[in-house]
Amino acid sequence: MLDILRASLRTGRVTESYPRQPEEGTCLRGRPWIDPSSCHACGACAAVCPSGAITLDSSTHTVRRWQLDLAKCVFCGLCEEACPHGALAMTNDFELASRTRRDLVVGLTHGPQIAGGSGQAAPASVEQQPAPAGMGVQVKGLRRRIQSRLRRSLHIRHMAAGSDNSTDWEISALLNPIYDVQRLGIDFVASPRHADLLLVTGAVTRHLEPALHATYEAMPAPQLVVAAGDEACGGGVLHGSYAVAGGVDRCLPVDVYIPGDPPRPQALIQGLLVALDRLEPKTRRAELTAAPGKP
Ligand code: SF4
Ligand code: SF4
Repeated sequence: MLDILRASLRTGRVTESYPRQPEEGTCLRGRPWIDPSSCHACGACAAVCPSGAITLDSSTHTVRRWQLDLAKCVFCGLCEEACPHGALAMTNDFELASRTRRDLVVGLTHGPQIAGGSGQAAPASVEQQPAPAGMGVQVKGLRRRIQSRLRRSLHIRHMAAGSDNSTDWEISALLNPIYDVQRLGIDFVASPRHADLLLVTGAVTRHLEPALHATYEAMPAPQLVVAAGDEACGGGVLHGSYAVAGGVDRCLPVDVYIPGDPPRPQALIQGLLVALDRLEPKTRRAELTAAPGKP
């Protein structure tokens, strides 16, 4: 017993201060970033992308549309290796949680191809390139906000709807001493009847679709839904298969998308904090709907 106590004292505190102190200098891989001025719409990146996250619409010879869907991206880095113009670079940006699926799409529109020349398109105009979200606002007074709204911790029901278990392992890590989300007033529960938030992983297999609906229906309002990992966000490499729905939003209204394959624990924490910002408006709406005299 004394040995255990001594070892504990020697180890000291292991819990990360994230999100209070954002992670810096990490070598882990995050989202790809594109430099629109270097892109020539050659399509080499789309040809190697294993999940179909990059598409190049070449249906017209005058304007070409290049698109990167971060919800489908598995952060493999093949596009960076394949790009002959150095337009793509892998970053370590992981704070990518988004409230809408559209916010995860980067679109470039290329001008007409150069007639008689190299066949390369004119430089692109970028439509959207999501930047990592700031954490300060969401973290400030977090525990107090959860307590004032719920009078207890935020309760999460995790459901694996046909996942490959990679994201599920990262979710398990949220409860270990390093990430310890209980310090933030967030906890996991076994029953959907006690849950405020449904955290779903996997592309939603046809077999598990009824179970997903049943779990959602069993939750008290307001039911927050978070899709974690590229499979839950957009089907991942299983996108288009007859055996999966192709993402949680094909079955349920999703409040927050957390891309990544898998998203690391810090990315999951950031996504849960973004979801918390949706809790209060949704609770108010649910209360108004349930009030006497309201339809
Ligand atoms: S990093 Fe993403 S976009 Fe690039 S090839 Fe891999 S899956 Fe496709
Ligand atoms: S990002 Fe690179 S590989 Fe992809 S279309 Fe542009 S130039 Fe070609």
